[in-house]
Amino acid sequence: MGRHDRVRQLKKLSKTIGIYVLGFCLLLGLAGCSANWTELLSEAGQEHEVWNASSDAQNGNLRVVFLDVGQGASQLLISPSGKTMLIDGGNNDQEQVMLDYLEMYGIGRIDVMIGTHPDADHIGGLDRVIDHHDIGAIYMPKIQANTRTFESLLESIQRKGLKVKTAKAGVVPDWDGEVQIQMLAPVKTSDDSNNMSAVLKVTYGKVSFLLTGDAERESEKLMLESGADLQADVLLVGHHGSKSSTSVSFLERVRPQVGVIQVGENSYGHPKEEILNRLAEAGVRVYRNDLQGSIEISTNGEQIEVLTGR
Ligand SMILES: [Zn+2]
Repeated sequence: MGRHDRVRQLKKLSKTIGIYVLGFCLLLGLAGCSANWTELLSEAGQEHEVWNASSDAQNGNLRVVFLDVGQGASQLLISPSGKTMLIDGGNNDQEQVMLDYLEMYGIGRIDVMIGTHPDADHIGGLDRVIDHHDIGAIYMPKIQANTRTFESLLESIQRKGLKVKTAKAGVVPDWDGEVQIQMLAPVKTSDDSNNMSAVLKVTYGKVSFLLTGDAERESEKLMLESGADLQADVLLVGHHGSKSSTSVSFLERVRPQVGVIQVGENSYGHPKEEILNRLAEAGVRVYRNDLQGSIEISTNGEQIEVLTGR
């Protein structure tokens, strides 16, 4: 019995689009399962687990992996034809973790890299990824940061001879013809780094993902006013579940079935109870990196399958 047949035996959570959840423990119990987990030891000597995707055939799915980079954010996208996209790369101390993840997924080249905004918890690990991998195109919003982290990223970009393309609403990065990619923000220039976050809508067949960086209410409002179609089945919950994001009107327009919170140990109180309650009331099934490790959401354009690290 193949992995997908087994997955189909799991409870169907939604009538419109099926969502399947496959936990780590269940995976362990599957004899002959084509996928497996590998334990890695990072340079810091810290143990972490990574979903070993390279052992599984690409099978025509779009896969969006919300990598567990602690308090920070990083999403790895693999298209049905094997194109790769990396959105953000966690903090500086996650550099080796990022390289390990890419190795585990068998990724040598990043076709599209996006640094959503210059905050360290998003771009910190990107410099080493650039140093070690071929990069097709890189997009960043037009905002600078006066930090060593940002400088280091620019140095890596320069060394590779890459030219940064501007991330803003309306930009359509060239990626995989079967997958629609559209940038919905920043709609206009802001002095605030979070509100300059590149926001991406990724659509494959009937299934959409909205990847929001650290966009806050101000940017959410501009996206609502822009008239863009914000509806998405999977929402990256803005700004690590902070109160500054996921406004009621924005959530109502997106109407996600699944929400992912990229969060680790932190002193900000992320994610906020108020936001968790708001998501629960809206019937959103929430996954969190701090509780479930890496979260891979895979779709054939009709159904969603969720694989969690723990
Ligand atoms: Zn952040």
